Amino acid sequence: MILTAIPAVVPSTADPPLERPADIPFGVYKRQQAKISRQRLYPVTVFYSTYAVSTMFFALRSAHPWIALFSCALGLPLWTFEEYIFHRWVLHGHFGPGTGFIRRFAHERLDPLHWDHHKHPFNGHHINGELKDLLPLFFTVTPLSFLAPIYTLPALIAGVVECYTLEEWIHHSCHFYNFRNPYFRYIKRHHFYHHSPLGENAGYGLTNGFWDIIWRTRFPKEVRDSLYRGKKKTPKAPSLNS
Ligand SMILES: [Zn+2]
Ligand SMILES: [Zn+2]
Repeated sequence: MILTAIPAVVPSTADPPLERPADIPFGVYKRQQAKISRQRLYPVTVFYSTYAVSTMFFALRSAHPWIALFSCALGLPLWTFEEYIFHRWVLHGHFGPGTGFIRRFAHERLDPLHWDHHKHPFNGHHINGELKDLLPLFFTVTPLSFLAPIYTLPALIAGVVECYTLEEWIHHSCHFYNFRNPYFRYIKRHHFYHHSPLGENAGYGLTNGFWDIIWRTRFPKEVRDSLYRGKKKTPKAPSLNS
């Protein structure tokens, strides 16, 4: 999920700059920012993978290992659905100023979360979330899940958090790497077109285009032909190099 560190309402002078400093070449800047982004992802990966592996270790030794596997696998559709919903309606929400705690929170904290990533797609502080971002949710939901047998809800959460970790790395890779693998070529084009002004109101899926089909937010056919099949005479996915 494209979370970023929740910024202070008024940026302090200690905040890292959003823009690439003019004296740093783009290639150097990109490598620096990739390192920052990776360092934010390592603790996320270790923490959630430890939870997932240890939970599944015990779940697979329960009386119902196949149910445990099925529950864990359900985490994949559940996570991709959540990823789409959060990206489309929370991160792309414009909450506007207002009174009341929830409205102010939404405007001051949620509004800037994703737009800085769209405007500065190679800034390593705005690619992914940090470990602390989702811990309150994790420590609320996970203990409750253990009220159910380990091969059901806890195994499901193991699948969800592992998919979350995977999605963070896929998003990171879209921005910083050029894999030749067909899936990565597809998802990178898909996501970069979403970053362009022409595509920012569609293509909300971060790891796949399935939920965009269901919710009718696919890119137009001529764009898809251009992006994925290389047909000409259509809008081209813009380069994000800056
Ligand atoms: Zn977006
Ligand atoms: Zn992105």
